[in-house]
Formats: sequence, C-alpha cells, structure tokens
Amino acid sequence: MNWQSDANVTETILAPVLEGWYDHHKRDLPWRHTRDPYRIWLSEVILQQTRVAQGKPYYERFVAAYPTVADMARSDEQSLLRLWQGLGYYSRARNLHQTARYVTEHCAGKFPDTYRELLKMKGIGAYTAAAVASFAFGERVAVVDGNVYRVLARLFGIDQDITTTAAKKTFAALAARLIERANDPATYNQAVMEFGAIQCTPVSPDCLLCPLQQHCVAYQTGRQSRLPVKAKKSPVRDRYYSYLVFRNNGRLALRERTARDIWQNLFDFYLQETDEPVTTLRDLALPDPVSGLVQQGASAAYVVELSQLLSHQRIRAFFHLIDLPDRLLEQLPTGLNWYSMDQVNELPKPVLISNYLAREFG
Ligand code: SF4
Repeated sequence: MNWQSDANVTETILAPVLEGWYDHHKRDLPWRHTRDPYRIWLSEVILQQTRVAQGKPYYERFVAAYPTVADMARSDEQSLLRLWQGLGYYSRARNLHQTARYVTEHCAGKFPDTYRELLKMKGIGAYTAAAVASFAFGERVAVVDGNVYRVLARLFGIDQDITTTAAKKTFAALAARLIERANDPATYNQAVMEFGAIQCTPVSPDCLLCPLQQHCVAYQTGRQSRLPVKAKKSPVRDRYYSYLVFRNNGRLALRERTARDIWQNLFDFYLQETDEPVTTLRDLALPDPVSGLVQQGASAAYVVELSQLLSHQRIRAFFHLIDLPDRLLEQLPTGLNWYSMDQVNELPKPVLISNYLAREFG
C-alpha cells in the first residue's frame, strides 16, 4: 500500500475528490432539488432529529401543509406540533414556528441570505446557518456536523475529544480551510456529509472501496473504530410516571404540559411522578381531592405499562383508567379538560400517550 498520509496533500485533494465522489453516489432526496432557503432550513431541522429515511416523509408532509414560510407562520402551533409528532425535541418544532413568524413579520417573508444574519435567528445554530447559507445562497462557509467530525477525524487522524471546545475549534478551522479548495461550496458541503452518511459510516465504513483510502490516517493505522473520540454521554435518568386516565361518557380528561420539562405544550393525562415504580393505585400517594375522586370512580382492574426512551431520560409509565360518573365531574383536578376521542386524536401528544391511546382505544 502506498501510504501517503501527508496532511497538506490530503487538504489539497479532499474537496475535489469528494465533489467527484458525490456526483456518482449522492442519493436523490427531495430537498436537493431546491434552492429555496425555507425548504432547505426545514429539511435541516427535521434531519437533526432523525435519519434520512424517517425524515423524508416528515419533510414531504410539512411541505404539503406549509409550502411557504408564510404558510407556516400562519399556522397554529398545535397543528405544527401534530405534524412534528414522533420526532421528539419539541422545542425545535416551536422554534421552527417562531422563526417562520419572525421571517414573515420582520424580514418581509425573505430568509436572511448570509451566514452571519442567519445565525441571529432563533433556533438556527452554526450548522444550520452554514447549511442554508451554502445550499441556498452558495456562500463559502463549511458545515460541521457529526458526519463531518467523523470523516475529518479519521482522514487526518485527529484524536481530540469532539465534545470539547478545543476540538470544535480544530475541526472548524480545518473545515474552513478545506472548503476554500472546493469548486462549489454547496456541492462540497453536501458531499462531505453524504460521504459520512453512506461511505465513512460510524460502524463498518466501506474502506476497501474508498477513494481516500491511501490518504486516510485511520485506515492506514487501523483506527477507524476509535475515531472520532467522543466522551461518554451522561447516564440516562429513569423517571416513573403514574397516569390517571379519567373517562366520562366516551370523553377523556387531558391537560397541556406547560412546565419547563419534556413534552412542553403537548397533552397528557393527570400525572403523578414518583421516585420508584408504583404499579398499583393503592400505593400511589395522591393528594386528597384526587384520591377521593379515584375512590368514588370505577377503576379498571388492570394497569397498562409502557415506556419510552428519550435522549437522556427513560420514562416508565403506568396508566390507570378511571370511569367517573356525571356527579363527580366538577371535582376534576384543575388543568384537566374533557375531550371527545376525535378531539383527542387532533391534540399534539407525546408518542408514549399516542401509543397508550392506540393500545387502549385504537
Ligand atoms: S478509508 Fe475508511 S475510514 Fe478512511 S475515509 Fe475512507 S471510509 Fe472513512
């Protein structure tokens, strides 16, 4: 093997090689057929949440519902959250909505056309600003996402922990130098990310058919699986939710989650959180008025247990269905409101709640 690990040489050839590779290997994706900054921004926000195969139908649904930024700005937040349902990180969906409104109200409906101006928008960080500025406006500014960290760390043998500020500076500076040699900044940015997504993958990169094999420090030193270096994630926190699902004449009682916590502005049922799993109503320490209501209602004999894994939390939930007669309706805890099943279907809800509804009433 002709070992050519000279960083200067790699810097010189990388952009043209990747642009050529991209020309032959790129996937045909709907957001690659547009230079509309709104649609590019939308696709990038969706793809921060999920893989391309899962993100594509979301993108298509959003574009069908809101073809322009003005359409999104006019929508109500609940409809938008419903379309977003299943992607998680709901604060990003709310930022999407607020940014659409900002663009419509303060920028005459036109997205800012430079990286610097884009960065000033709510919810648009360095990565998204670089993606929109380069893909839509051709600005020569490098994107640095997880794919780019991986490709550059392996190619150049950089073993700094990519969660540190020092490493972020190293990679940003290298990426900025590399894009200077690109024929077209938009193509180069797409190319390096696509290369990371389908060639230089996290597990089992396709090194044997890689056009950069001879220049790749990781390949030449057998360190593909050890690069990039990333500090271990903080441990997952376990949370235990006991839900009381009050039902009356086919209607269910739900409330909007307003606290600064997971699932803000989504709807769920009366919730008691506990430090340990509590599987029976009897062992649940409910406040007085609620425990009285539970005793007078007719509780189902079974408990439905479901769980959901979020990025840093594991939710284990126990659902208790309780039928309330009309005479107790006035004692419903504050914040809860009655919804018909059709209305419940329309509300934005966490996936955990949707799964419960599908299982119990679907
Ligand atoms: S040789 Fe392997 S590790 Fe190196 S850039 Fe190519 S695919 Fe990635």
